[in-house]
Amino acid sequence: MRVPRHIHGNGVWLPLGGQPRSIRPLLGAFLFLPEPYALRYVSTRGRAPELGFDDVLLTGLATDGGLYVPAAWPRFSAAEIAALAGLDYPALAARIMAPFVAGSVLEKDLEGLTREAYSTFTHSAVAPLTQLAANDWLVELFHGPTLAFKDYALQAVGLMFDRVLKARGSRITIVGATSGDTGSAAIEATKGRAAVDIFILHPEGRTSDVQRRQMTTVAASNVHNIAVKGTFDDCQDMVKAMFADTTFRADMNLSAVNSINWARIMAQVVYYFWAALHVGAPHRPVAFSVPTGNFGNVFAGFVATRMGLPVAKFIVGSNSNDILTRYFETGAMTMEGVQPTLSPSMDIQISSNFERLLFDSLGRDGAAVSRLMDGLKQSGAYTVNDAAYREMLKLFVGHRLDDAGTKRVIGEVYKSTGQLIDPHTAVGVHAGRVAKLDPALPRLTLATAHPAKFPAAVKAATGIHPPLPQALADLFERTERFTTLPNDLDQVKAFVRKNARR
Ligand SMILES: *Cc1c(COP(=O)(O)O)cnc(C)c1O
Repeated sequence: MRVPRHIHGNGVWLPLGGQPRSIRPLLGAFLFLPEPYALRYVSTRGRAPELGFDDVLLTGLATDGGLYVPAAWPRFSAAEIAALAGLDYPALAARIMAPFVAGSVLEKDLEGLTREAYSTFTHSAVAPLTQLAANDWLVELFHGPTLAFKDYALQAVGLMFDRVLKARGSRITIVGATSGDTGSAAIEATKGRAAVDIFILHPEGRTSDVQRRQMTTVAASNVHNIAVKGTFDDCQDMVKAMFADTTFRADMNLSAVNSINWARIMAQVVYYFWAALHVGAPHRPVAFSVPTGNFGNVFAGFVATRMGLPVAKFIVGSNSNDILTRYFETGAMTMEGVQPTLSPSMDIQISSNFERLLFDSLGRDGAAVSRLMDGLKQSGAYTVNDAAYREMLKLFVGHRLDDAGTKRVIGEVYKSTGQLIDPHTAVGVHAGRVAKLDPALPRLTLATAHPAKFPAAVKAATGIHPPLPQALADLFERTERFTTLPNDLDQVKAFVRKNARR
């Protein structure tokens, strides 16, 4: 791996062992002493302290409201990328993530960590490719414990939390709200971990049976499911209020694992390299079609291009909540209401991870990003300057698909290939097909969930009820454990205080 020049020039060489104020780096520069290299992270809004990986992992959101990104992108040469071909998934994951955890306690045994993280996956390839048509591939990202792509990041991130906290001799309490996929993936990633307690709020009676059972049947003493008598927004508001209460936050050592956490993006970069290498990169460019909500998944693909992976296009697929597709059509980001769809994990009002692309596209100008985000808060909209917008269009295009179209595409794919796909994946497949790229370009659609996770839509489209995979076949016989609480912040906080092991 070539360390970018400007990292050296910016003086982010720091000694290991957590003494960033040491004068050793200065001495090192004069005496030409080799210093261990540490990657620093900056906020997209430019007014939060620079941090190393371990602090970025534990902090999540920056203190200025921004998101953390590396101070400079690590870069692989084409020869270095070509040499990655043939590695298995855990080995590749360790190689791709290594430059990002430089200076972290995780550096020592990163491949041990990735081996353990992906050992729970039920396909020996971890992320197998299946072929739909001549140059049309699916990247199956649903072989983890909860059957959705979030496992690919969270299984690794759960271990990272545990190792960093153990090294520091501290513990954290994770609180989160979920309408489905994130909660179960976070619970599976942290169950039984000594340094972590996790509390997940879900709206009582408003998640699917599969999704709820994936959370509530996990028998681990550090896992606490709370069914709130309210909506998902009520749950979300209570989580925000807990973070806003500085005393409570400090007392409980509160932390989050939502998709703004840099570590999740980093772990997702891996499968872009993995998939592209399998269809001929870096010797030929590829295209990715990504069903997107928060822009987290597709931003990880953008990071891969910054690291040197040749990608000709990212096709961003949205359901009827199409803020991103509207943006790529117009250059204006404008908020609208959320409507429920067959692909609920993409039912979002705003794509928070887009801020990271904005930061890069605006020349890493945190003040400019801040102004746009303020505008969004005040008026529900912002417009990106013409030059930056045109530059984005070279790499990104957006396409949308409504529920009727989603069912149609699930049916068509089944008819032509015998393959069952879930509604999120269908949005991606459609976007890829209508993008009409050069047919010689290998097109990789990320299959973000197993069809059995959304059986009703698949059945409606194909007449077939997709069976749960072996590992979850007895999900409906397992015992559920959860606590029902009223939509009342004080009672929820009291429950967290009482049950967190401190
Ligand atoms: C979370 C999720 C998405 C959206 O991912 P983003 O990172 O928000 O773009 C898509 N599909 C499924 C199945 C998901 O669980």
